[in-house]
Amino acid sequence: MTRFSLLALAREALGGHRGWQPHWRDATPRDFYEVVIVGGGGHGLATAYYLAKEFGITNVAVLEKGWIGNGNVGRNTTIIRSNYLLPGNVPFYELSMKLWEGLEQDFNYNAMVSQRGVLNLFHSDPQRDAYARRGNSMRLHGVDAELLDRDGVRAIAPFLNFDDARFPIQGGLLQPRGGTARHDAVAWGYSRGASLRGVDIIQNCEVTGLDVVQGRVIGVQTSRGPIRAGKVAMAVAGSTSRVAKMAGLTLPIESHVIQAFVSEGIKPLIPGVITFGAGHFYISQSDKGGLVFGGDVDGYNTYAQRGNLPVVEDVCEGGMALMPMIGRVRVLRNWGGLLDMSMDGSPIIDRSPIDGLYLNCGWCYGGFKATPGSGFCFAHLIAKDAPHPVAAAYRLDRYATGALIDEKGVGAHPNLH
Ligand SMILES: Cc1cc2nc3c(=O)[nH]c(=O)nc-3n(C[C@H](O)[C@H](O)[C@H](O)COP(=O)(O)OP(=O)(O)OC[C@H]3O[C@@H](n4cnc5c(N)ncnc54)[C@H](O)[C@@H]3O)c2cc1C
Repeated sequence: MTRFSLLALAREALGGHRGWQPHWRDATPRDFYEVVIVGGGGHGLATAYYLAKEFGITNVAVLEKGWIGNGNVGRNTTIIRSNYLLPGNVPFYELSMKLWEGLEQDFNYNAMVSQRGVLNLFHSDPQRDAYARRGNSMRLHGVDAELLDRDGVRAIAPFLNFDDARFPIQGGLLQPRGGTARHDAVAWGYSRGASLRGVDIIQNCEVTGLDVVQGRVIGVQTSRGPIRAGKVAMAVAGSTSRVAKMAGLTLPIESHVIQAFVSEGIKPLIPGVITFGAGHFYISQSDKGGLVFGGDVDGYNTYAQRGNLPVVEDVCEGGMALMPMIGRVRVLRNWGGLLDMSMDGSPIIDRSPIDGLYLNCGWCYGGFKATPGSGFCFAHLIAKDAPHPVAAAYRLDRYATGALIDEKGVGAHPNLH
């Protein structure tokens, strides 16, 4: 496979781009793997990559029922950040942020990681206090955070409605190192990096059953035949309940759809990522110029990857309230993705009650930024049978013991996380 470099680019440019190789091997399934990963999304692929790279485990297959990038990893709005409050979360997301910062050099692929800043706006005194507290918690954990007043926000984003807004902007919490990354390139980069190290990436291979004998998983049934496995790792995001059910497990996860929107391309306007604090709306701008924005989850359980019109209206209202001139731009595309909403809004990276079956789920609408950290910590768990220290709080039994990681403080309401 081609190693990307300035020299390789120049060679291909001069040679009419006829020498590029496929980015990863399209493998056919073998009878047995040491580790079978179910789900070729960002988390499954990153796990395979770090299993091979960090732990030397290369007899690994990633089984993807569709094609690489068809799930949430290619449907999200690309925001990366580590602006969390709770001790269970901050070190994990900061590890992920640090991995983002070195990712492109690490896997030799352009994932367009762009640290242009994430700005959360506040519109009331209590909200300011909550953001000040979160910023302080971030700084105590060594994470960058700046509390801006109204003038500070205006200096960054003068186009916001500062004059006659229904919810006047009072300021914002800025994480300068936050930003965006090109989502599908992340999937391709991890696929390529894992494949180069010997991992089999197998597309169009749906897992239809989990073989469990005397409390231990010994393999999977797939649309391309049975595969025996030493360990099976689930990373299927919005399909978590369905796959867990194959092993007789009921998990504290609900599937919801969330939508994303992209406008026609316009000149550079949005400096980084901006989130509205008085409604659910957030926005950034892609390198092609399209405004990329989204909002709340649709309020019902579903496995459909498309959303409903009331949420389209709700998202557009948020946009109009924040920056009324957005009403003049045309939406080009919108789509939905399937979220694995957990009951406290935080993820699970843990062993399951079935020996040899490992769980990675509960990412809600924030799992893209977690991709490197999740892959790294899940690989650690699978390889060593012990949680990575920064992911130690993401236990499945916290829903029984009550040690919830309720970052938003809204309780067991998955549609609110
Ligand atoms: C519209 C939208 C916007 C979002 N915005 C952001 C954001 O800005 N920032 C952020 O951090 N997060 C965001 N997220 C959330 C983030 O995308 C997800 O949390 C994350 O991508 C989930 O992990 P994944 O990449 O592994 O999931 P996926 O890419 O969904 O991977 C799961 C894979 O499992 C496969 N699969 C399912 N069942 C089976 C089976 N039986 N056999 C084999 N394969 C199977 C699926 O086909 C899928 O490819 C957003 C999500 C959506 C939908």
